[in-house]
Amino acid sequence: MLFGVSFDLSSWVSWISDLPGWFWFWSYVIVTGHITTETVTIYLHRYQTHRSVLYLAPLVEHLCRFWGWFFTSINTRQWVSVHRKHHHLVDKKGDPHSPFMEGIFPILFAGVWYYRREAHNPETIKNYQLPTLPNDWMEKNIYVPFQYVGVLVLLAINISFCAWKFDWWWGVVAWALQMIWIPFFAAGVLNGLGHYFGYRNFETKDASRNIHIFSWVFTFLFIFTGGEEHHNNHHEETNSPKFSAKWWEFDISWLYLKLLEAFGLAKLRPVRIM
Ligand SMILES: [Zn+2]
Ligand SMILES: [Zn+2]
Repeated sequence: MLFGVSFDLSSWVSWISDLPGWFWFWSYVIVTGHITTETVTIYLHRYQTHRSVLYLAPLVEHLCRFWGWFFTSINTRQWVSVHRKHHHLVDKKGDPHSPFMEGIFPILFAGVWYYRREAHNPETIKNYQLPTLPNDWMEKNIYVPFQYVGVLVLLAINISFCAWKFDWWWGVVAWALQMIWIPFFAAGVLNGLGHYFGYRNFETKDASRNIHIFSWVFTFLFIFTGGEEHHNNHHEETNSPKFSAKWWEFDISWLYLKLLEAFGLAKLRPVRIM
C-alpha cells in the first residue's frame, strides 16, 4: 500500500498481457516506423548531409546505419547525393522531386519513384556525394552489396513471430506498412507537401513550407515525419540541427538530439536564428 493505492505487480502484468492483438500490432508498426523516421532525419539528413550534427557517437551511428539497412534498404551515399542535389537546384529544373516541376500528386503518391530514378543516376552520385560518407568494411561488404537482405530478414522475422502469436499474414501486412513508411511520409509527404502546402516563416528563394500550424497537436504528424515537417525553416537555415523556429512549433528530433548531447553521444552545431 503506497499513499492509499495498492500496487499489485501481477495484476499489471496480466492486464498488459491481456491487451488485444491489434494493440500490439499497431504499436509495433508505429514504434518501429517512428524510429526509422528518426534514423533518417538524425543520421542521414542532419548528420551525414548537412553536418548540423557535428558528431554522433560510433555506437549511435552504427545503430542508425543498421536500422536503416534493416527497415528501409536505403543506401547512405545515394540518399545524401539526391538530397544535396535537391538543395542545390530546389524547385528548378534538375530538382529530383519538386512538386512544381512534376506536379503535387505524382510526388505525394509516387515520390519514391522520383527518388529511385535520381539515386541510380551515376552523375548525381559523382557530383553530390561527400568524402565524409561511410566507406568501412560493413558498408563495402554488407550494406551496399546486400542492400535488400536486411528487409527480407525483417519479413521472415515478422512472419515467424506472427505465425506463432497471431496469423502469419499479419507479419506480411506489418512488413508492407514498414516498407511504405519512408516512401510515403518522406518521399511523398515531406518532398511533396513540404514544397506545396502550409505556411512560411521565411521568404526563402524556393517554395518550401512548414506543413501545418499546430500539426503536432492535432495530427501527431511528428511521429511520422520527426520534425521535418518544418521544411521552410530547414531551407532557411540548412545547417541548423533544430527545425522548429517559433515557440509553438515542435521538433521532436531536437528533443532526442538534446538528450543524446546530454549523454555525450552527440555534438550539435550552434543554432543561429532558430
Ligand atoms: Zn526541400
Ligand atoms: Zn536538407
